[in-house]
Amino acid sequence: MTFKDLKIIEPILRALKEQRYLTPTPIQQKAIPILLQKKDILGCAQTGTGKTAAFSIPIIQLLSLERNKNNKDREIKALILTPTRELAIQINDSFTKYNKYLDIKHTVIFGGVKQKIQVDNLQKGIEVLIATPGRLLDLIQQGFIQLNKIKYFVLDEADRMLDMGFIHDIKRILPKLPKEKQTLFFSATMPPVISGLANSILHNPVKIKV
Ligand code: AMP
Repeated sequence: MTFKDLKIIEPILRALKEQRYLTPTPIQQKAIPILLQKKDILGCAQTGTGKTAAFSIPIIQLLSLERNKNNKDREIKALILTPTRELAIQINDSFTKYNKYLDIKHTVIFGGVKQKIQVDNLQKGIEVLIATPGRLLDLIQQGFIQLNKIKYFVLDEADRMLDMGFIHDIKRILPKLPKEKQTLFFSATMPPVISGLANSILHNPVKIKV
């Protein structure tokens, strides 16, 4: 099995080759075809399994294919919520790598630092936003971010979000997203609170465990 077999487009294949990604990992083999079919996913996977590429690659591909020549708008179309600054930065770095031969605009926001640079980046026009929940809510409340054009929503490491006390923030963010969207929900463990949250936001998800 290769990334080409998974119907990944040439500019992404080229970037993956440069990263020496030869074979898709099990979660990538399972998740990528489902995501390209625009279905929701409930993924049970730890960090280190290749989970980030499993959701980043299809999002870059779908956004790039959906773009038409006249589409110069830069509204946020994909939101990736992750619990920590380190994860947020890693995910943003992954987007930089896989997006090397495309030009999907992405940026990252997280708390604990001044917001000015983040706001300046947002105002350049962004298609993919990678965020931790607190800073996202803060910038929404200040009017710097609108989520009403989101088509792809990733909730990463949901169980850690719960442990870190972010569930309340997430519940305040969810109503700001459009009803119609594709949702990707990842968690290493599935305690009842987490599967309850998953059930409330996913539509007929395909379940994947690695
Ligand atoms: P993740 O679980 O997404 O944090 O990925 C763990 C590490 O595996 C990261 O350093 C990735 O760059 C790397 N990785 C992800 N997918 C592949 C792949 N198909 N081939 C080789 N390395 C990969």
